[in-house]
Amino acid sequence: MQVPDSVIKAAMKPATSTKPMTSPRHTSLWGRLFSNSLPRTHLLAASGVALAVSACLALLPSEPAAAKRQPAEVEKATAVAISEFQAQLPEAVEQLPPPQLVTEPQLNWKEITVKSGDNLSTLFKRASLGPQDVHQFVSSGDSAKKLKRIMPGETLAFGLADSGELDTLRYQISQLESWEFKQQDGQYSAEHIVLKPQVVSTYREAEITSSLFVAADSVGIPHDLIMELAGIFGWDIDFALDIRKGDHFMVLYEEKFLDGDKIGNGNILAAEFTNQGKTFKAVRFEDASGHANYYTPEGLSMRKAFLRTPVNFARVSSGFNMRRLHPITKKIKPHRGIDYAAPTGTPVYASGDGKVVKAGYTSANGNYVVIQHGQSYSTKYLHLHKRKVKRGQSVRQGQTIGTVGATGLATGPHLHYEFLVNGVHRNPRTVKLPQAKPIAEKHKADFLAQTQPLMASLAKHSGKGQLAQLDKPAKNEG
Ligand SMILES: [Zn+2]
Repeated sequence: MQVPDSVIKAAMKPATSTKPMTSPRHTSLWGRLFSNSLPRTHLLAASGVALAVSACLALLPSEPAAAKRQPAEVEKATAVAISEFQAQLPEAVEQLPPPQLVTEPQLNWKEITVKSGDNLSTLFKRASLGPQDVHQFVSSGDSAKKLKRIMPGETLAFGLADSGELDTLRYQISQLESWEFKQQDGQYSAEHIVLKPQVVSTYREAEITSSLFVAADSVGIPHDLIMELAGIFGWDIDFALDIRKGDHFMVLYEEKFLDGDKIGNGNILAAEFTNQGKTFKAVRFEDASGHANYYTPEGLSMRKAFLRTPVNFARVSSGFNMRRLHPITKKIKPHRGIDYAAPTGTPVYASGDGKVVKAGYTSANGNYVVIQHGQSYSTKYLHLHKRKVKRGQSVRQGQTIGTVGATGLATGPHLHYEFLVNGVHRNPRTVKLPQAKPIAEKHKADFLAQTQPLMASLAKHSGKGQLAQLDKPAKNEG
């Protein structure tokens, strides 16, 4: 008995639909069964197995899309045909037109990692493709444009047909995003594949015993996330000079998973930081237009007019322990400034928005910059290795205005920072600063609806919520 072509085609459909689109490493069932390396006899035997497997897949309830395309009668017919087909395999295979089954491309994949200086020609060459293949790809629609900004470290996977011709090209931008270019009749069509990760929120807390980074490490918080946390509280806490043993923090943040594997972190949702006995809380709020910012639970912006630390705090070299044992290094000196010892070249930031009113050199100050912030405030940055701004220039808060150095009267590389109110030197850590902007009244309801559950979750994790709940009934009874 001969298996009708229509049945074979119907049976093939579910198998092709199970082909994962994400990675060339996951070649299709057909690709694996019809691998080029198989001798012809095996290939033919494999077609029977593949047919049986694909028939099974067609009947699987976990493939609703495939099942929809497969009317019940056809399924039945396929199953019958398969059993008969298997019984008469020796004759049947000879009568089978093999091209019917092997038309599904069986590609040889070559995965190539983009190196610095690579372009399409060099990448195609490494995949054993010639200039004419590059030309065909480039001249086919706007596929090539998608590959204009390939970056070192990204991967291109070339799916080559038996003939050596490029059939499919996959450009993996990230674990979540890729482009797939498929050739049909000499033209390449482009498909943008974006996978959605599973996002879960994770809670961590730690007490600082030696440094912020050691504390973060001890609970598995990566470096970039702790920098982000420091950024959220960077208007309230000077992470270079103010951190003490016994400070602690709690943080609720997103983790992203793909197929059960962690692929990265998302946003910090809520956090609490206790510094020298004073607790600061922050919660993330995303408005209707998708802009996100951090606020206190009451809705005051965490952003303030001045950053506490006008230098990349992670590079301030006098260690935390040293500062704790020798608090003299943070003393306001007679010349009314704060010194941040850091390696030469460490970025120095404008602590607030403003205008550069001086940028020059004197034998005492070395390279220095003075910024005027509105009417009352000005800040000075001395002993810079290099100045990165010019007089008259407007600067934004956090903008790099120079680098740490030891120019002028300096015993070693450090930033000497001064803060003046109406021309009088003040301690930037104790001076009263402009009030933070509250959340707009029209967003207040949205804000509370979005942020209260996050703060509640943070409190619950930290055990505080539980305590509060236990407290309440006791009070009522009393
Ligand atoms: Zn100084």
